[in-house]
Amino acid sequence: MGNENRELHVFFFPFPANGHIIPSIDLARVFASRGIRTTVVTTPLNEPLISRTIGKANIKIRTIKFPSPEQTGLPEGCENSDSALSPDMIMAFLKATVLLRDPLEHLMEQEKPDCIIADMFFPWATDSAAKFGIPRIVFHGMGFFPTCVSACVRQYKPQDKVSSYFEPFVVPKLPGEITVSKMQLPQTPKDDDVFTKLLDEVNASELNSYGVIANSFYELEPVYADFYRNELGRRAWHLGPVCLCNRDTEEKANRGREAAIDEHECLKWLDSKEPNSVVYVCFGSMTTFPDAQLKEIALGLEASGQPFIWVVKKGSSEKLEWLPEGFEERVLSQGKGLIIRGWAPQVMILDHEAVGGFVTHCGWNSALEGVCAGVPMVTWPMYAEQFYNAKFLTDIVKIGLGVGVQTWIGMMGRDPVKKEPIEKAVKRIMVGEEAEEMRNRAKELAQMAKRAVEEGGSSYNDFNSLIEDLRSRAH
Ligand code: UDP
Repeated sequence: MGNENRELHVFFFPFPANGHIIPSIDLARVFASRGIRTTVVTTPLNEPLISRTIGKANIKIRTIKFPSPEQTGLPEGCENSDSALSPDMIMAFLKATVLLRDPLEHLMEQEKPDCIIADMFFPWATDSAAKFGIPRIVFHGMGFFPTCVSACVRQYKPQDKVSSYFEPFVVPKLPGEITVSKMQLPQTPKDDDVFTKLLDEVNASELNSYGVIANSFYELEPVYADFYRNELGRRAWHLGPVCLCNRDTEEKANRGREAAIDEHECLKWLDSKEPNSVVYVCFGSMTTFPDAQLKEIALGLEASGQPFIWVVKKGSSEKLEWLPEGFEERVLSQGKGLIIRGWAPQVMILDHEAVGGFVTHCGWNSALEGVCAGVPMVTWPMYAEQFYNAKFLTDIVKIGLGVGVQTWIGMMGRDPVKKEPIEKAVKRIMVGEEAEEMRNRAKELAQMAKRAVEEGGSSYNDFNSLIEDLRSRAH
């Protein structure tokens, strides 16, 4: 514990979406555990999620008011993008968050932090920090690989040279001959919308701010960590995987929203299974599927013959009318599978020795949590930079294989993934020689991840150099 660091006061300002808040709070906990005075700034309705995730850590929360429905056009109580359920609402939500600037600056005036670590979706925070003469650091919760792909696509525009949305192209300059198609880019196909403009500003703020914190560790992606710093010229610190700050069951179970299952019941179910036999299926904090897709997933899981925990974000009615005929009797009541309807304690589940594989939408947090748990993954990307993350798992670290999706969810040409490819992919990551090889590689990476955050490890050391930089500036 570095008491000598007490005088530094760091503000965290996470974007109000679960997938952004959770890694930000993990990161804030890393700072607090190293003796830094840490304050998280958020809006009132996000406070419960944040304080659950903070747990016993020594972190202060300060709230600022979210703009009113009259100002934003959003319904009352919509303070987290996870409750912005349509594309129009998401756009209105993004615009609304710009109005947080004044109250944030007011708080900065009062509290006089030495540094602000603000989410990438607040590009304006760089100017706010400049007003107070303090550094702004960008936290986007991602690793180097997806950020490098995004930066190269943005800079060299290979997508302008293809004739269709599906034609693959190689990402210029990026090491590793990575191919993607226009349908898989994080920006929506419309060039002039609010989101595409925001991504431009995000990119600029990576360069204009003091630097970027990556949720990664050097040994996971050395080529891309070097490329990001040396070729793309970004100043960056890798301080991850931040999820590893959750050490005991209580911390893992309390991370994020309140779970829709009693953690003891969940652990008891897992304890009754063989090591590496359970496949965990979860598509992040936001994705919902139409009934037709849920049905195929159910059939695919059943046919794979593996026990499973499947997280379904769908309604709260007791009835599971979307399940195939007889599924409850054949599978659920026989204890072969567990469906969690709502929020799952993901890290707690992944870290259980019975879990041997993960079907994931490839949000960076989930991908990295899978790495830390040492499990092979079936990649099933939906949108945003998830297609890049999927490539990373399948082609770079080779601990995943795809279920076959090629385009954003909800786009034309994306029919439900059928039972057969789901069954096949699950079997391939769970049993046989290929699964064993992937599992061995995943376990090696998991070991490296743990070493990176321990004293003397690469992330631990990068934290020290960041703090040294900040302290020399603050004096
Ligand atoms: N998560 C969880 N339980 C759930 C769904 C998600 O704990 O039921 C956590 C997950 O562990 C991860 C975060 O929420 O830390 C989701 O972030 P990710 O980048 O994977 O995806 P997003 O939700 O942003 O699409």
